[in-house]
Amino acid sequence: MRFTVIDTIPFQPDRAALVKRLRLRDGSSYLSDLERLVDEAEAVAKPKALYKVAFIDDRGDDYVVVGGVRLDSRVLAVNLDPVHRIFPYVATCGVELDAWAHAQDDMLYKYWADIIKEVAVREAIQALFEHMTETYGLGKMMSPGSLEDWPMPQQRPLFAILGDIEGAIGVQLSDSFLMTPNKTVSGLRFAAAEDFASCQLCPRDNCPGRRAPYDDTLYDRKYRKIQS
Ligand code: SF4
Repeated sequence: MRFTVIDTIPFQPDRAALVKRLRLRDGSSYLSDLERLVDEAEAVAKPKALYKVAFIDDRGDDYVVVGGVRLDSRVLAVNLDPVHRIFPYVATCGVELDAWAHAQDDMLYKYWADIIKEVAVREAIQALFEHMTETYGLGKMMSPGSLEDWPMPQQRPLFAILGDIEGAIGVQLSDSFLMTPNKTVSGLRFAAAEDFASCQLCPRDNCPGRRAPYDDTLYDRKYRKIQS
């Protein structure tokens, strides 16, 4: 099945939230500069996302095969044990906003532009997840690089399952598995009765993106292979 592209995502960042995030004070002379940058960003930004419905052809203790492409992860294999369908996705701030950010010639504005791109990718992921939840009722997700068990090089097979992502939404994957634009996220969603968030297996302290508390016994309880 070909992927579905979502490219009509409105972009109107919360300006008050940006002022707070950038720690600008009332009356600061920088406020009008930020207003100008946000006006420009709104005019050019086209956040986008794509996803695909894909089916598991084969599976083992620590891998699944999807459309002939193997994904290696013990945690993924256990989480996907009850399901036959997955929904790989990519969401991005968009090449248009990325090019605009690169064209900024002042270091401070470059930094602000990067934060604005971050807001745009969040809008893209929110629009994508709302669409997927409404259409398929999906809940769980995993992303390559979020766990040692499913590291960044697994971006390559995930991209292979999706197809020509660059042709569709301009996102490129480098030899070191980094995505361009830099404000791009990838992963897969699936439907399963049991709750799961990668954060439950990630001990990182003070992570602003944490969605669930770290559970230091979960891996042993649920994912550790029993040696015969
Ligand atoms: S705690 Fe942070 S780094 Fe760890 S998986 Fe969650 S979002 Fe990612």
